[in-house]
Amino acid sequence: MNSLNDKAVECLTELLTARGMLPGIALSNWIGGELVAGQGESIELLDPVTGLPLMTYADAGAALVERAVAAATAAQQEWMALTASERGRRMTTAAAALQGHEEALAQLESVVAGKPIRDCRGEVIKVREMIEYYAGWCDKQHGEVIPVPTSHLNYVRHVPYGVVGQITPWNAPMFTCAWQLAPAIAAGNGVVLKPSELTPFSSVVVAMLLERSGLPQGLINIVNGVGPTTGAALTGHPGISKLVFVGSPESGRKIAQAGAERLVPSVLELGGKSANIVFGDARLDDAVAGAQAAIFAAAGQSCVAGSRLLVQREIFDEVCERLARTAGSIAVGLPSDTATQMGPVQNSRQHRHILSMIEAAKLQGARVLCGGHRPETLPAEARGYFLAPTVLVDVTEDMAIAREEVFGPVVVVMPFTTEEDAVRLANATRFGLAGAVWTQDPARAHRVAARLRAGTVWINSYKAINVMSPFGGFGDSGFGRSSGVEGLKEYTVAQSVWVETSPTASVATGYGSGVG
Ligand code: NAD
Repeated sequence: MNSLNDKAVECLTELLTARGMLPGIALSNWIGGELVAGQGESIELLDPVTGLPLMTYADAGAALVERAVAAATAAQQEWMALTASERGRRMTTAAAALQGHEEALAQLESVVAGKPIRDCRGEVIKVREMIEYYAGWCDKQHGEVIPVPTSHLNYVRHVPYGVVGQITPWNAPMFTCAWQLAPAIAAGNGVVLKPSELTPFSSVVVAMLLERSGLPQGLINIVNGVGPTTGAALTGHPGISKLVFVGSPESGRKIAQAGAERLVPSVLELGGKSANIVFGDARLDDAVAGAQAAIFAAAGQSCVAGSRLLVQREIFDEVCERLARTAGSIAVGLPSDTATQMGPVQNSRQHRHILSMIEAAKLQGARVLCGGHRPETLPAEARGYFLAPTVLVDVTEDMAIAREEVFGPVVVVMPFTTEEDAVRLANATRFGLAGAVWTQDPARAHRVAARLRAGTVWINSYKAINVMSPFGGFGDSGFGRSSGVEGLKEYTVAQSVWVETSPTASVATGYGSGVG
């Protein structure tokens, strides 16, 4: 029997009662329009707040992946048999089906992911927006006619891959689920999605709510389990025609390799070590507030976290002092408390990883300006994976803390002298996900933005993202794009059709002939 805490039981009960299901053994996977229990090893979830067992569930395993791919294959045919306008209408209805369940979804996400409830409430709204946005694209995807220099009519169709496999991480599971499944189905695909084994259920509930509003049963399938079993079964399945992965570079490499084995393309949305550059002429109140939000929101468990703060030397001491002071006033506490700005780290492995990176940096000479330990004032039950906002200085470029992703509430502050120096430092990383420039000189802002090797750049801002605007990385931050029309295109492939229009048909004999 699960030991899910009362709040989660309450929200799951509310959601599942509508299907005559109660939380329990069946709450594992969403396959072919049904809740299906896993068949593999037991997976235990620990409460990020207390560190105590939250619930257990069984790994889906290869047999359920097989069933999910079969369900998606059949549903995709049904989906594509509808008109494009009808697909759009059904997606719009699906988005509306989330209404009335926002609070329960936010509570569920908050309990399992350990995220502040106010952040989760915001993410639920984004889930609906993403479905609505891509619903609008359904009947606006059309091909082109190419003015080829022959007597042919040549037109291009953008056709779905078929069934896509998606794998997501634990830092924003519900948001990431909608982020990827919305463009996938808008482009005409069926989906089998595996969330992180650490945050499995919000994706199940989102899929369930969307699908039961009138999407073909089996169009969206959620399989839960760990990477080496359920994940590997999905990436290796011959029925999957495209892989979309959101997670760490280490796992991303394995996913791309699994795809390459079968010659299946992939999109990789990976980690980052984003540079947040503050020039001496920046509006300091804004820059410091931006720097704080860039790293401490979501306890730093954000792919775009501004984990390297690069500050021009003449304002370096002042920025460090202000940042350390304001970091100390961030409300760290229970995710369920609406006043909480920063909750715990999601899991013990990540918590240990963050602490070990801080310790290694200290041994190499870095100095802790604030944090580096558990916050002093926490409620009694908060014995889980909490860490105070941490600011490190005296960090050199060669240190791991300046180069590797921490994925926690830890920022290194490093000085620079010239614009050239700032750009060099910012680009001195294998990652290339995001970055920001703070300055009141517009010409410099655009000049520096253009020189940053990063998929997203903010000027006098940080972390603004929207489903309409493309998102993705360079280098170890991955390849391919999500969001916007670019994200949609990742889910289709171009088909070129040649129609002979001449009454005296010619036959190509080689690429050099008139036809080729
Ligand atoms: P992770 O790579 O450990 O796991 C991500 C997912 O991959 C999980 O579902 C996991 O079960 C699965 N997985 C692992 N090995 C697998 C295998 N061999 N085959 C199939 N699936 C496998 O990442 P994480 O710790 O869950 O998440 C944190 C990472 O995600 C950070 O690096 C963060 O920057 C990144 N991230 C990137 C973005 C982005 O959009 N670029 C967004 C959020 C998080």
